[in-house]
Amino acid sequence: MSNKPENLTLITDDGLRLDGRRADEIRPMKIEVGVLSRADGSCYLEWGRNKILVGVFGPREAHPRRSQRADSAVIRYRYNMASFSVEDRARPGPSRRSIEISKVSREAFEPVIMAELFPKTAIDIFVEVLQADAGTRTAAINASSIALADAGIPMKGLITSCAFGKVDGKIVLDLNKEEDNYGEADFPVAMTQDGEITLIQMDGNLTPDEIKQGLELVKKGCKEILEIQQAVLRKKFETPVEEVSEEA
Ligand code: UDP
Repeated sequence: MSNKPENLTLITDDGLRLDGRRADEIRPMKIEVGVLSRADGSCYLEWGRNKILVGVFGPREAHPRRSQRADSAVIRYRYNMASFSVEDRARPGPSRRSIEISKVSREAFEPVIMAELFPKTAIDIFVEVLQADAGTRTAAINASSIALADAGIPMKGLITSCAFGKVDGKIVLDLNKEEDNYGEADFPVAMTQDGEITLIQMDGNLTPDEIKQGLELVKKGCKEILEIQQAVLRKKFETPVEEVSEEA
């Protein structure tokens, strides 16, 4: 969030944003499942100008052995930005930001992954941000959810993620880069299919009423994303009835 140039208007009088969206609209999303042959599950996701690749490995024996848990799998989530993914080259290797995003994203999945079924193993989620345009942590969570399902990891449901923010004094859904740079607040959220929140963060200042209004928008956004995720997975896993009867 930086100082906005004086003549820059992020929302027109007609209520349209710079990319033509209304306040309650998410950016277009495109998803491919099973794109990596060496991963147990994978997903490539584009959301606006964000491009994210996720590979899931496991459950597999956890190494080093001292990291194993006798009663469950350990879940590991690594968020990484390619150096070419941002305007000013991102320094390779972990940063405070990437360590924080990895931690909160792992915690967003812990309530749904049935880790207790796989003691002593590890489930690794590797996120590579290839192109960043604000909202990469939410995009990565949406892609990871699909990659986990693609890997056949038992989950109580999918996790869906979307941010809301405050731009030119208005509460809007799913900030793009200009809105993230020059807006007043950014509020990423992740939730289960039942609407239970598993990640919540806030950058900037918002009143309780604005948060309430934003959470309503996020619920709407997450519902739309969940439908996209479900459609993609259905397409991959549902075998047409004719094919089943032909093989029998
Ligand atoms: N960004 C950047 N360089 C960095 C980190 C972030 O240019 O080292 C950009 C990138 O486009 C990112 C946006 O700033 O998507 C917002 O970053 P933030 O930390 O709010 O996380 P995000 O919104 O991507 O989850």
